[in-house]
Amino acid sequence: MGRILVLAEHNTGTLDTVTRELLAAAARLGEPAVVLLTGPGAGPALAGQLAGWGVTDVYLAESTYAGTRLTTPAVAALEAAVRLARAAGAEVSGVLIAGTIDGREVAARLCVRLTAGLISDAVDARLRDGVIVATVPVLGGAYTVEAVAKGLAVVTVRPHSIVADGIPGSVPDRDVPGGTVTAPIRLEIDAELERGRGAEIVAVHPRPASGIRPGLTEASVVVSGGRGLGSDEGFGLAGDLADLFGGAVGASRAAVEAGLCEPGLQVGQTGATVTPELYIALGISGAIQHRAGMQGAGTIIAVNKDADAPIFAVADFGVVGDVFTVVPQLIEAVVAHRA
Ligand code: FAD
Repeated sequence: MGRILVLAEHNTGTLDTVTRELLAAAARLGEPAVVLLTGPGAGPALAGQLAGWGVTDVYLAESTYAGTRLTTPAVAALEAAVRLARAAGAEVSGVLIAGTIDGREVAARLCVRLTAGLISDAVDARLRDGVIVATVPVLGGAYTVEAVAKGLAVVTVRPHSIVADGIPGSVPDRDVPGGTVTAPIRLEIDAELERGRGAEIVAVHPRPASGIRPGLTEASVVVSGGRGLGSDEGFGLAGDLADLFGGAVGASRAAVEAGLCEPGLQVGQTGATVTPELYIALGISGAIQHRAGMQGAGTIIAVNKDADAPIFAVADFGVVGDVFTVVPQLIEAVVAHRA
């Protein structure tokens, strides 16, 4: 069995649950090892959390550019880990990366660096006759195909698509069954590649405070607004409803293009793929490119004034009506129910 490298996703010192999902997938495919990219000195604490998840082998790269929007440090770290493992005589058969916007870019760049095969947006992966076979939805999820790569497979995995069975809980405690990270293997990364050729962060604009809303791909409830919400103010309805459930706000591309919200909220083929327990679509027609990013949700509720809107084809519950009439009533009903 070859070695499977997993790129850990973490945020402000805590590992994201998608990392646990990637580990679950990796454990089916070979010998999992984690590549951890952190800022100076931040690595050992995260390695401790990984121990709680049963990980023993960690490749640690510290970079001054970790945590910036540059994806090149992660590419450099993964490339260094693959080369180091190979130099030590190990076969590396797969690299698993979260199918986030940044993850997709890292994967594509890594494939160029290593002349590897890229499989994007997998929802499952297993070994068949020693070869990694990934399941990938195509044509907006209407079909799935099985994909294999020639040689090293770099696979981006859709968040929430893999059940993290068998991976210990997320308690960052070294005593949790699963072991201890043997001393992390420190990676030297190519300074030029790390910084990125020709790319530089010139300013960082923090997202306007959205209270305690969770991230779009992590949230168990997502309320998305479309062009039907009409204005910034109308778009606020999606936020009001999301906040009732402790959920995240998403958007269609038309809503983003109309300037109703920031681009980072876009759900769909060219935005985020979300698989929450509950997805509520407000004033969204349900174009195939939007559905590609949300039809894996557990339960889908749609509100649209057009009874023929395609979103109703994938909705479990549909309300034909004006969002400005229906949503305030819905909010009132939820509040009354909880009182
Ligand atoms: P519309 O299609 O204009 O629909 C608005 C809906 O709101 C209508 O159904 C209308 O009946 C309803 N409505 C209007 N007023 C009200 C009201 N008061 N109450 C209730 N309902 C109301 N789109 C994405 O979302 N994500 C993507 O990632 C994406 N990627 C794309 C990639 C490519 C290559 C291309 C070509 C397109 C992509 N699109 C994507 C765009 C996609 O095709 C649609 O144009 C877009 O999803 C439409 O957004 P919408 O549903 O908000 O707008």
